[in-house]
Parts: sequence; structure tokens; C-alpha cells
Amino acid sequence: PAAIELRGISKAFGPVQANRNIDLCVPKGTIHGIIGENGAGKSTLMSILYGFYKPDAGEILVDGRPITIADSQTAIRAGIGMVFQHFKLVQNFTVLENIILGAEEGAMLRPSLSKARGVLKQLAAEYQLNVDPDATIESLSVGHQQRVEILKALYRQAEILILDEPTGVLTPAEADHLFRILEGLRDEGKTIILITHKLREIIEITDNVSVMRRGEMVASVRTRDTSPEELAELMVGRKVLLNVD
Ligand code: ADP
Ligand code: MG
Ligand code: MG
Repeated sequence: PAAIELRGISKAFGPVQANRNIDLCVPKGTIHGIIGENGAGKSTLMSILYGFYKPDAGEILVDGRPITIADSQTAIRAGIGMVFQHFKLVQNFTVLENIILGAEEGAMLRPSLSKARGVLKQLAAEYQLNVDPDATIESLSVGHQQRVEILKALYRQAEILILDEPTGVLTPAEADHLFRILEGLRDEGKTIILITHKLREIIEITDNVSVMRRGEMVASVRTRDTSPEELAELMVGRKVLLNVD
């Protein structure tokens, strides 16, 4: 089964239909892009997957099992990890403390610094995620802070990592490094969902891409079979291409 599948997800904010009848199927071990213009509904969809919003309708399946994501703890337990546009790190705490403490998990994790240190070391070696465990967050570059967010998700055993516009805050060199990390994770069988409005990034790194426009999913295609021009047209609405696999 797919790592994650959405069926008919809808969400309105008053008169604004932010997500309308969204279907999405993300195969395990792939990098899946979600692209759309500002306001297309990408972040709303992501927030639903992390339990920040309850959808008005629809179903979410993880590894083929229907789940109800009531809050972020449910999402974490289901193996979903998030890297937000604005990091949720405690600035004057160290990397290690942030990995363990995380705001939203509460009492879920037993705080064990030595265990965390070991896991961090192993993850750093495996995925080029080197950060000094004893550095405070405020002393780190934005790129390194983002790595801490990724480490936090992996420490919580995320199998599905969702990143919302992750390169917006990065230098080109940091963005390159992030993409190598994501490819490494994918090659180890993790599933990555990359939300972006940058076509270049979709073409560079994704296996498949879904296009959102005005709250709807207007296409899901294999990236290498689709031209940049075609994707751009889908984004801005000159074209609809449904259920292409
Ligand atoms: P994207 O991430 O693709 O830019 P969003 O999901 O942030 O799109 O927004 C989709 C639409 O829903 C926009 O019209 C936005 O203004 C609206 N929206 C998003 N969040 C809220 C909210 N909490 N309250 C009201 N409207 C919202
Ligand atoms: Mg936006
Ligand atoms: Mg957004």
C-alpha cells in the first residue's frame, strides 16, 4: 500500500474552501512534490496531516490503515514528521534538549540525554545531518536549525517526512545540502513530501508531483514524464490533467 493516502479531504474556513475533495497517493520510498501557487491550499493540507485542523470530510490512510489524526501526537505515532516554514525550536536550548523536549509531544518521550546523543550521532553519520548536539539553537545558521527539525522528526521515528516550503529560508548551498539529505532519506526507504511553489525544485528532486490550484488537486503525475511548461500551466489553470499515473 501507499505510505500515505488521502481520499476526499475537504476543509473550509468560513466561505473559503481551502481544500476541496483532495485525493493523494504517495508511494513509500519516494519524494513526492506538492506544488501550487500561494493560497492553493498546500499548508492547510499539511496542517490536517499534523492534526492542527480537523477536515470537514475525507479519509487518511497510513500504510493502508485508516487513521484519525486528532492532534500532533497522533500524527507522530503514525510516523508522520513535519518541518514547518517557521521552526518550532526553543532558541536558548541546545540541540539535544530540543530533540528531547519538543513542544508538542509532552510526556510522550522519556527524556534520556545519552540515548538521544547516541541516536543523533548515528543519524548524523547516516544522513549528513551533522550538528553539534551541545550548541544552542540561537548559535546555529538557519540551515542547521532546519536540520535539527529533521533530526527531531527522525528521532521520533518518522517514516513520512513533510516539509513546507523548506528552501524559502535557505541559501542556495544550504538548499543543495538539504536535497542531498532528502535523497539519502528516500534511498533508505523514507517517504518525503516536499511542498513548494518552485518548479525548479520539483524538477530537480521529486519522483512524482501533485499540483494544487484553488483548493483542488488538479493533477498527479510522474515528474520525469511531465514538462516544466505543462506543470506551470497546471498551476495557473490553463489546463487540467486528472488521474494520470
Ligand atoms: P498555501 O499554503 O498553498 O499558500 P494555504 O493552505 O495557506 O495555501 O491557504 C489556502 C486558503 O485558505 C487561502 O485562501 C488562505 O487565506 C485560507 N486560509 C488558510 N488558513 C486559514 C485560516 N486559519 N483561517 C482562514 N483562512 C485560512
Ligand atoms: Mg501561502
Ligand atoms: Mg503555505
